[in-house]
Amino acid sequence: MAYKNFLRAFFAISGLIICVLASCAKTESSRIELALGTVCSITLFEQGQESVYDEIFSRIREIESLMSVNIPSSDVSRINAAAGIEPVQVDKDTFKVIAHAIYFAELSGGALDPTVGPLVALWGINSPAPHVPTQEEINSVLPLVNWRNVELYNQSVYLTRRGMALDLGAIAKGYAADEAARIIREAGINRARIDLGGNIILIGQKKDRSPWRVGIQNPEESHGAITGILQIPEQSVVTSGIYERFFEENGKRYHHIFLPSNGYPVDNGLTSVTIITENSIDADALSTSVFVLGYERGRLLLESIPQTEAVFIFSDRSIRTTPGAMFILTDKSFSVKR
Ligand code: ADP
Ligand code: MG
Repeated sequence: MAYKNFLRAFFAISGLIICVLASCAKTESSRIELALGTVCSITLFEQGQESVYDEIFSRIREIESLMSVNIPSSDVSRINAAAGIEPVQVDKDTFKVIAHAIYFAELSGGALDPTVGPLVALWGINSPAPHVPTQEEINSVLPLVNWRNVELYNQSVYLTRRGMALDLGAIAKGYAADEAARIIREAGINRARIDLGGNIILIGQKKDRSPWRVGIQNPEESHGAITGILQIPEQSVVTSGIYERFFEENGKRYHHIFLPSNGYPVDNGLTSVTIITENSIDADALSTSVFVLGYERGRLLLESIPQTEAVFIFSDRSIRTTPGAMFILTDKSFSVKR
C-alpha cells in the first residue's frame, strides 16, 4: 500500500513539471524519496556518487525533523507548545528560517504570515478531514495570527500568546532546496536539478548551453497538465497555487493558502503565481506572498526586488508575466496578456 502511495505520489510530482531537460547523458542519475510531506527528486547530470544523494536526503530529513508541525519533537512543535509560556531555544537552521519568514512577513505587509498555524489547523487542510469552519471559529483564531507577536532573540523563539502556532509550510521547502543545492555545488557537481514538491532549482548549464525548460502547471488540472514552458538560466522556480492542496464542500473548492486578515483561502482571481529568482527560500516566500497579495500589489512588491521574475495565472485563463520572464504558452485555451 505504501509502495502504491509512493508510486501515486511519484506520478503526481507536485507543482511544476520539468519538461525536456537535457539529452540523457549516460552519467545522469536520480533519486526520489518522500520527505517534507512531498515528493523530493534530485537529478545529477554528471557523475554523482551515492554519498552525495545520501548527504542531500539526510539534510532534507534533518530540516523536516526541525521544522515540521507533524513531528512532536521538532523545534516548531516545541515553540508552539510553549506559546504564551516561555521562549524556546532552537537550532540555528530553525532560527534562520523563522527570521527569514518574519522578514518576508514584514516586506509583504503580513500577506505571508508564519503564524497561520491556528488557521491551517482549524480548516484541517493537512488532515484527513478538512472542513469549512464557522465564522465564529474563524473569528476566535484570527487574533492569534500575527507575525508581530513572534519574539526572536539569541536563537530562541517566543510566541507571546497562548494558542499561537508557527507553520513554515510556505518557506521550509525552499530552504531545504537551497541546502540541497549547496551540497551539490560543494561536491563539485556542475549540473543538477532539484525538485522538492515543485520547489525547483536548476544548477549549471545544459550541455548545449540552451536555457533550462520548466513546465508550468495548469492550475485547474491535477498534476501533469501544463500551460506553458519557462526558459530559465541557473535559478530557482517556485509556484504557489490553488491546486497543491484543496478540498471541496457543497460544490465549492477551498485551497491551502490563507488570507491572514480574514482567515479564508485567498480568492483574488489568481490561480497560481510562479516566481523565478536566485534562492529557493526567497522564491518560496515570494510565491506565497504574491499569491496572497494579488496581482497589483504583488507586482509592486516584485518591482522592489531585483532579478526576480514572475508568471501570474488567473481564473479567467489569462496569463501575465514580468518583462524578463521567458514564458512560452503551450495550452492555447489560455492567453498571455502583456
Ligand atoms: P506549497 O505548499 O505548495 O509549497 P506554499 O509555498 O504557497 O505552497 O505554502 C503553502 C503552505 O503555507 C500552506 O499549506 C500552509 O501550511 C502555509 N500557509 C498558508 N497560508 C499562508 C500564509 N498566508 N502565510 C504563510 N504561510 C501560509
Ligand atoms: Mg511558498
